[in-house]
Amino acid sequence: MIGTFSLLSLNLTVKAQLNPSIETKIDRLLKQMTLEEKVGQMAQVSIESLGGSKNGVFSFSDKMADAVVNYKVGSILNTPGVQSVEDWNRMIADIQVQAQKTRLKIPVLYGLDNVHGVNYVNGTTLFPQEIGQAATWNRQLVHEGAVITAYESRAAGVPWTFSPVLDLGTNPQWPRIWEGYGEDPYLISEMGVQFVKGIQDPLGSKEKLAVSLKHYMAYSDPKSGKDRTDAWIPEQYLREYHLPPFAAAVKAGARNVMVNSALINGIPTHVNKHILTDILKNELGFTGFIVTDWQDIENVYRRDRITKNIKEAIMLSINAGIDMSMIPYDYKGFTRDLIALVKEGKVSQSRIDDAVRRILRVKYELDLFNTPVTYVKDYPKFGSLEFRKAAYNMAAESITLLKNNNNTLPLRKEAKLLVTGPNANSMRTLNGGWSYTWQGERTEEYTGNYNTILKAVQKEFGPANVQYVEGVVYKMKGQYYEDSVTNIDSAVQAARNVDYVLLCLGENSYTETPGNLNDLSLSDNQLLLAEALYKTGKPVILILNEGRPRIIRKIETGAAAVLDIYLPSNFGGDALADILSGDINPSGKLPITYPRYTNDLAGYIHKPSEGADNPQGGNTNPQYPFGFGLSYTNFTYSNLSLNKTSFKPDEKVTVSVTITNSGSREGKETVQVYISDLIASFTPDVKRLRGFEKIDLAPGVAKTIQLQIPIKDLAFVNPQNKKVVEEGEFKVQVGNLSANFVVTSSKTF
Ligand code: BGC
Repeated sequence: MIGTFSLLSLNLTVKAQLNPSIETKIDRLLKQMTLEEKVGQMAQVSIESLGGSKNGVFSFSDKMADAVVNYKVGSILNTPGVQSVEDWNRMIADIQVQAQKTRLKIPVLYGLDNVHGVNYVNGTTLFPQEIGQAATWNRQLVHEGAVITAYESRAAGVPWTFSPVLDLGTNPQWPRIWEGYGEDPYLISEMGVQFVKGIQDPLGSKEKLAVSLKHYMAYSDPKSGKDRTDAWIPEQYLREYHLPPFAAAVKAGARNVMVNSALINGIPTHVNKHILTDILKNELGFTGFIVTDWQDIENVYRRDRITKNIKEAIMLSINAGIDMSMIPYDYKGFTRDLIALVKEGKVSQSRIDDAVRRILRVKYELDLFNTPVTYVKDYPKFGSLEFRKAAYNMAAESITLLKNNNNTLPLRKEAKLLVTGPNANSMRTLNGGWSYTWQGERTEEYTGNYNTILKAVQKEFGPANVQYVEGVVYKMKGQYYEDSVTNIDSAVQAARNVDYVLLCLGENSYTETPGNLNDLSLSDNQLLLAEALYKTGKPVILILNEGRPRIIRKIETGAAAVLDIYLPSNFGGDALADILSGDINPSGKLPITYPRYTNDLAGYIHKPSEGADNPQGGNTNPQYPFGFGLSYTNFTYSNLSLNKTSFKPDEKVTVSVTITNSGSREGKETVQVYISDLIASFTPDVKRLRGFEKIDLAPGVAKTIQLQIPIKDLAFVNPQNKKVVEEGEFKVQVGNLSANFVVTSSKTF
């Protein structure tokens, strides 16, 4: 009885959030739609499969007209190749014109992976990849980047983006870790919410986009570490760590969710009704629609062998809660099979209506019925200087100073430098994957006006002060890029004549499966180059340009300074050069634990048995801990205090702390609040990030900040999958300070 009651009240709340006039329009439209028209809405086809691309240029093919006009597909995705904003806009306008020829004139919802900007549109503003965005710990910058991406996306005619990635980056072996906001559920939630708000509620309605939260959920946590392989995770763990970012983004109003391509506990997520319908739609009250990942209904049958044929796979997926199929094996077959399933009573008419209602809702909310086409001239700020500055600022705040022996940095502007390494002169490596093309393989063709690290350093320090020898270079070998030695001896020779060596190491760009690795160490060739340079005795500044932490233990000790620049995109070279010269004071902090050993990959969230309290435990010994990052100035923490020392579960604790810039230059500091539940009936995590704020302080200035943290946010998920705060003592840690408080009673939320 209690269950029925709570479900009922949940539905009522959900309905209350919806726009009644849109719901009435949907009711009217649904009544007019045939079953064929409805299932058409549930299919999403790719431009490529429709022959929409001829030599990388869009052409409206007969196949495309057939899909849009005869089969009335609800959505099209992907790219015929990199195009100008005008070509993108024209292409989508052409599609919408075709859609207007259909009986009910339902617009097509075009979707694209705008992963760090509108990355398939030439001239767009590219931002650092999500891992770098998280390293800024700056909510405002992430919000601003999202607003700009929405604007530029609408200029191109694209109203739906397949971002943000909210997967938990706990396993650096997982190759897509750079696509997400790092390892901590709270940091990911905060950044994800900013992205959703910036994309979906920008300043004006003509810039509004729909997001896709992906990849729901636990996609990032496969047992093997390899992409799209199975995860074995108890529901308690899913709810404690993987679900919160999705829950926060759904609460912020996210309109679409994309499903984890792989399996959890032996069940392909695409047929997991509990995860898709019970948790996402019913419990979280998600009112948008669920899309599959690429061809994943087919994978249920072909890869995961859950069904004997594709038709059964469709039945299971749609009944589990899938609303739209991205790349059905063939959309004609998909619609035919789905119609048959409805006629056979295996998929209910009401499930179809629910799916179509959700898709139409988003189309109405995006105002596609009234304005299916946008005009580039209405978006004059596309690629503007103002937008580029925002991308530069984000890159500058993401770069993380991890080591700075004897204040090696900043460098004098007259310093003589050798720039070397495979990442020194490449826009491709600065941008990473999802840049112009899927794997970023053609980046160099589109970034003529941007500066590689080498070019930016030459501009900053003067070309006469900068020498360049590549030493090691990336070359394509089969499906993968590998590096090979070119001229280490020349690099060593050149190093002898300079004051400092800027050694730029890391990875080449990749996206998805080609990123699987058997070893996280930096390659032997890169290590050889580093070791040869160290022997010269010149101070080496190690620049890490990589999508995931690569093990650097063997060369870290010899480095005078280390900077992680992640994948900072087109302005990353400039931002780095400004940090090297001291024009900018670095303020990035690691959003991920940087491991020291390949067999010691645990993140900062762990149980006491894995920590210092267990002499036999695998106490993790990272190269650099989560949240770490240095500055050119010093910050001192004092006066940590709490508003009270005892709280009820519904109250909030106010943590206040004073931060003083005790150095000699202006700087930004991210104040991080960690809280530990000291004793609980379920072994507590040693500590968890529960709040943060980035502040800017002039030298000598002190600021007291207050962070309010609801006690209910300290709840843990118990073995019954309920969120509970238990009475007892808690410890707050900020910087090197700590204070304790008690919660006086327990409560289940
Ligand atoms: C990826 C998704 C992406 C989709 C569409 C899939 O292979 O897993 O992240 O959004 O393709 O490009």
